[in-house]
Amino acid sequence: MITAYYHPGYAAPIGTHIMPIGKFALLAEALRTEPRVELAEPEPLAEADLLRVHTAEYVAAVRSGEPRALAESQKFPWSAELYPSVRLTGGGCLAAARQALEAGIAAALVSGFHHAHADHGEGFCTFNGLVVTIDALRAAGKIDRAAVIDMDLHYGNGTAALAASRPYLFNLSIYGNDYDRNQPYRDVAVARHRDGENHRSIALPNGSGRAEMLGALEAGLELLRAWGRPDLLLYQAGADPYREDPYSPLELGEDDLRARDRRVFEHARGEDLPIAWVLAGGYTKDTHRVVAVHHNTFRAALDVFE
Ligand SMILES: [Zn+2]
Repeated sequence: MITAYYHPGYAAPIGTHIMPIGKFALLAEALRTEPRVELAEPEPLAEADLLRVHTAEYVAAVRSGEPRALAESQKFPWSAELYPSVRLTGGGCLAAARQALEAGIAAALVSGFHHAHADHGEGFCTFNGLVVTIDALRAAGKIDRAAVIDMDLHYGNGTAALAASRPYLFNLSIYGNDYDRNQPYRDVAVARHRDGENHRSIALPNGSGRAEMLGALEAGLELLRAWGRPDLLLYQAGADPYREDPYSPLELGEDDLRARDRRVFEHARGEDLPIAWVLAGGYTKDTHRVVAVHHNTFRAALDVFE
């Protein structure tokens, strides 16, 4: 049985937006028919949890709406419902991580974390729920070290920036949205984004299919092994590498992304690492395609863990 944390309050009223905020509810609905998945509601993050990672000025801006440019730096229109919704999505990630420490695996039907920096948001990410979760569990004495495997289409710049001052956190970002054609793929370990010891990145060339993507994942898992053993894995199972996604230059179909998810879960299971995953991005015009990719992540997890 896999617990998936969902709350109707995850969705802030952002109007017509490229971010399909309705996907959380659609996926929750689809999962109600999965006998081996149970839905649970998380508690919202406490403000103290946010303040371990984010500046007081930024947290106050998201809460109050002022200054407006800072409150909307993630590119959502600010409303009074925004702050409660992002405390809930972050709370979903924290709840899933706590559950993973007990049960081995859990999920949160949330997105919107990896571009968020300490003092501002970016790219539909308000607060960095991944790092907030890791710092909250460390403060509670539950973990010492944690790793993020980020396979969203986009580079996880916010998590990498936060990792730079957190040696207990390893961030691996395998991304595909801005590959430099002049850089040969074999140089996977070359720093593209001022990588550091504990924040590494691998760019997937435009047009990459399953073999390139799984090859990059193996190379990334080697980097993680070289860093050492985490007490917890957080996985960004992005649906935006999908070939029909408007942002994706990759050739990855539903089965390829399911194979990706399966490999990540096999790694966690094989090394006995608790793993919690979140949905991350996905912008394919037909939201049901996005939901299908996210649903497949559950199928992959059930294949490996049940
Ligand atoms: Zn993305």
